[in-house]
Amino acid sequence: CGIIGIVGTAPVAERLVDSLRRLEYRGYDSAGIAALEGGHIARRRAEGKLRNLEEVLRQSPLIGNIGIGHTRWATHGRPSVANAHPHATTEVAVVHNGIIENFRQLRDELLASGANFESETDTEVVAHLVTRELRAGLSPTDAVAAALPRLQGAFALAFLFDGDEDLLIGARKGSPLAIGYGKGEMYLGSDAIALAPFTDTIAYLDDGDWAVLRAKGIEIRDAANHRVERAVQKTTATA
Ligand code: GLU
Repeated sequence: CGIIGIVGTAPVAERLVDSLRRLEYRGYDSAGIAALEGGHIARRRAEGKLRNLEEVLRQSPLIGNIGIGHTRWATHGRPSVANAHPHATTEVAVVHNGIIENFRQLRDELLASGANFESETDTEVVAHLVTRELRAGLSPTDAVAAALPRLQGAFALAFLFDGDEDLLIGARKGSPLAIGYGKGEMYLGSDAIALAPFTDTIAYLDDGDWAVLRAKGIEIRDAANHRVERAVQKTTATA
C-alpha cells in the first residue's frame, strides 16, 4: 500500500500511476487517484492491479495538475471500487494508509450530524471530519488541524481540496510519509522510491508532523501545530 501526491504545473494522472507502480512492492488490492479537474475533485478507482486503473483512465481520462494517488491494502471493508481510495466529499478528497482505530465512534458522531457514508472503510471518517470543519467555515489548514487530534491509530494521509489548485496537505502518525521538493512543483509520498521520478531532494516527516504543500514551497508543522524544519536530504533512490 502506498501514497503519492503532486501539486504541480503539468498533468498528474499518468505520473501518479507511474509512482504507484513503484510502490507495488508493498502489496495492494485496489488503487485510485483524484485530481482537480476544472477546480473540482474528480476520482478514478479500480479493484485489482494498476492496469485496471489505467484502463479506467483510458476510458475516462482525468485532467488536472494537482492530485493524489493510493494503493490500498484493505483492513476495513472488502476490496471493491467503493472502498478504494481516494474517499471524498464535495469539499475534500483523502487517501490513507494505516488504521483509524476509533472510526466507529467517529462514524456514529458524523452520522448523527448528517454525513452520508459511501464506503465500509475506516478512512472515510477522515473525509467527513474535515468536511464538517470546512462547512463550519474553517480554512483547509485549520480544518485539518482540528481533525487530526481526533484520529487514533496509525496513519499516513494526503488531502486534496475542492477549489484550491495550489494546496495539498500530508500528515503522518505511525506510518511513514516523505515530502519532495521540485522546481515549481512539490510532492509527497510513502517513500523516496515513489518520489524518485520527480526529485532527489526530500525530507521525512517526523511522527505527528503534517505538511502544507504549495507549488512554491512546503511548510511543516508538528503535532502541537508549531512550525518546524526537517532535515532535507539528497536521496539515492533511482528514477
Ligand atoms: N484502513 C484503510 C482501508 O482499509 C487503509 C488501508 C491501507 O493502508 O491501504 O481502506
